Amino acid sequence: MRVDVVTIFPEYLAPLDLSLVGKARAAGTLDLAVHDLRTWTSDVHRTVDDSPYGGGPGMVMRPEPWGQALDALAGPHTRLVVPSPVGAPFTQATAHALAAEQHLIFACGRYEGIDQRVLDHAATRMPVSEISLGDYVLFGGEVAVLVILEAVTRLLPGVLGNADSLAEESHGPAGLLEAPVYTKPAQWRDLSVPDVLRSGDHGRIARWRRDEALLRTARRRPDLLAALPPEAFDKRDRAT
Ligand code: SAM
Repeated sequence: MRVDVVTIFPEYLAPLDLSLVGKARAAGTLDLAVHDLRTWTSDVHRTVDDSPYGGGPGMVMRPEPWGQALDALAGPHTRLVVPSPVGAPFTQATAHALAAEQHLIFACGRYEGIDQRVLDHAATRMPVSEISLGDYVLFGGEVAVLVILEAVTRLLPGVLGNADSLAEESHGPAGLLEAPVYTKPAQWRDLSVPDVLRSGDHGRIARWRRDEALLRTARRRPDLLAALPPEAFDKRDRAT
């Protein structure tokens, strides 16, 4: 997958060199470049913002540098992703959809955001997704890009050592939160690992994990449970 990130703070994206995202880049699974928006300015001050039409506080990102950046970077298979508090909430389903794309361009807004005409014009040439991390306001889109790219990268083929992690984890195909997890030692302070997990009985362990996932989801996120179709449950689930 090819990814271009356009920002006025390229150094904010430095963590994309680390950990498994960094490894995916090194392996070529993720072909990622970070660009300084000011590359596409033409004045001596490398201006990217101006005061808002209609008045009001703050500044708005001017359309010209964004237009030139998109002209330079977009190709025939590009989706533009614009992190924004007015966007659709980011979910694991969104991450899967983005992971299936060939080329993403992330446009990191700052100040009061990007002149609306940039998005309107881009939408005549390529699909555009405005994505929100949640119902709060950040200073800029860079942190949102780190989050979105991390969620997307771990879905790319070959990035996770054990692809089974994706099948059982929270917000996976079962639509549940994951059951609690434990490791050694079996006894820590006055707490022990549930006996079933040390039984070696894979059938019982799978059942226990399913029951715990159902209980946890019912207690913490009943909305997720309510959204599942009846066929997502088996007879023993109903007993739980
Ligand atoms: N004036 C905008 C509004 O009220 O909707 C907020 C602009 S915010 C200060 C600057 C930039 O931060 C946005 O353009 C966007 O790129 C990013 N941003 C802020 N909150 C975000 C969120 N919840 N999800 C994704 N991006 C966000």
